[in-house]
Amino acid sequence: MATKEEENTVFDVEAANVLTKELRDVFASGKTRSYEWRISQLKSIVKMCDEHEEDIVDALRQDLSKPQLESIVYELTMVKNSCTLAIKELKHWMMPEKAKTSLTTFPSSAEIVSEPLGAVLIISAWNYPFLLSMDPLIGAIAAGNAMVLKPSEVAPATSSLLAKLLPEYLDCSSIKVVEGAVSETSALLEQKWDKIFYTGNGRVGRIVMAAAAKHLTPVVLELGGKSPVVVDSGIDIQIATRRIIVGKWGCNNGQACISPDYIITTKDCAEKLVDSLKKELEAFYGKNPLESKDLSRIVNSNHFSRLTKLLDEDKVSGKIVYGGERDEANLRIAPTILLGVPQNSLIMKEEIFGPLLPILTVSKIEDSFDIIKSGTKPLAAYLFTNNKKLKEQFLMSVSAGGVVINDTTLHLAVHSVPFGGVGESGMGSYHGKFSFDAFTHKKAVVYRSFVGDASVRYPPYTLGKLRLMKALITGNVWTILRTLLGMS
Ligand code: NAD
Repeated sequence: MATKEEENTVFDVEAANVLTKELRDVFASGKTRSYEWRISQLKSIVKMCDEHEEDIVDALRQDLSKPQLESIVYELTMVKNSCTLAIKELKHWMMPEKAKTSLTTFPSSAEIVSEPLGAVLIISAWNYPFLLSMDPLIGAIAAGNAMVLKPSEVAPATSSLLAKLLPEYLDCSSIKVVEGAVSETSALLEQKWDKIFYTGNGRVGRIVMAAAAKHLTPVVLELGGKSPVVVDSGIDIQIATRRIIVGKWGCNNGQACISPDYIITTKDCAEKLVDSLKKELEAFYGKNPLESKDLSRIVNSNHFSRLTKLLDEDKVSGKIVYGGERDEANLRIAPTILLGVPQNSLIMKEEIFGPLLPILTVSKIEDSFDIIKSGTKPLAAYLFTNNKKLKEQFLMSVSAGGVVINDTTLHLAVHSVPFGGVGESGMGSYHGKFSFDAFTHKKAVVYRSFVGDASVRYPPYTLGKLRLMKALITGNVWTILRTLLGMS
């Protein structure tokens, strides 16, 4: 329990300044750099997940009514997997990487040394409040940094659980949690950091980047966008539908950054697709989805009104072909499908981030590319097809943070590929080794001995030296020999 005095403590710029100084001191002491420190922290995270599974699931239930399966599989297990991978690979990741040298520096050797950045700030979002806090934290620990985590105030139960558990399990001199909203985050952003890792929307992403620019601090921005799903003909429609549903409503009821935002299909396919979606949705969530325990609720009343405003727009409200029911008191909106919404409607202009799924139709499936390209680059793009040429065209013409062919959201679970956005959906990436790299400086180191001190580099400069230097830089042995023999 916090004391009265602690409860009244304001976390302002001065407090943030003291905190960063403490972190800088502890980083300078070298404590966080050791392999042993990193491993012990990572193992403690696994222990924390095991010992507090119920508390974590409970906090996620309080914040979002998140179903237990989703909390365990998509938050807890993902965090544990990231830790296990880092524990297994850390020695290898930390090892200097041998690099080739050329004749230009002969005799020499070179390597790339992975160096921790220093004191880093992690600001996370509310929709996967445990995963999005812990996953970057694991990368920052593995890379040997000191850090502050600022969880999202929009998921208060998870935020306070993290603030309670992390000091119990982790080294609280080098890993701090600061709870709070705009003013606390702004106080943190005033400080000089060695990296800022932000997850959330693009408006705040711009604030973060502007604050970082003052100190030339590098950033990772994990943002969102409108992730399209293109559905071609000639596919197994039932499997496609089930995979779309699980990526949309099965991921926090559409409140996920890589949830399908809208579907594009041909006019011929639309009816079949809508029928299949209706059938499978009813099989998954029953006749009254507002009562389903397998769907998260909308996080708060602000987001509830934002979503209902999208549905209630004049040019959109008549386009609902399934769902549309809502329960304001319990912040629930049923899975809702809309067919043929105009592209200039609000629902097609902003990221939906909720249980509404518009379907647009085109005459030819290839026309979907122009629709996608007319918007900003999405965080994810999905294509369901059996057509090899269409897959190639899709990959060539659609720029997105990640792409999945014939499924949705699964790239998140593949640790060997980077997870991040492009353009307006973000910059930088993480997951697996990419998380380690996100919080690491790759230091170039070249080793020389005192052997082979060629006078060609030194003044006085002569035409002969110039010729030899030019030949050395080309690295072509034949040219070097010709030059040495005075043949050029
Ligand atoms: P949010 O409201 O939790 O905000 C994110 C963080 O920004 C919070 O910690 C909050 O305190 C801080 N913040 C808010 N206003 C601020 C301000 N004015 N100055 C400084 N800090 C401020 O989350 P959100 O933005 O609603 O998150 C949803 C968005 O995040 C969606 O666009 C979604 O696609 C994106 N997202 C992306 C990923 C990803 O991995 N790429 C993951 C989850 C969510």
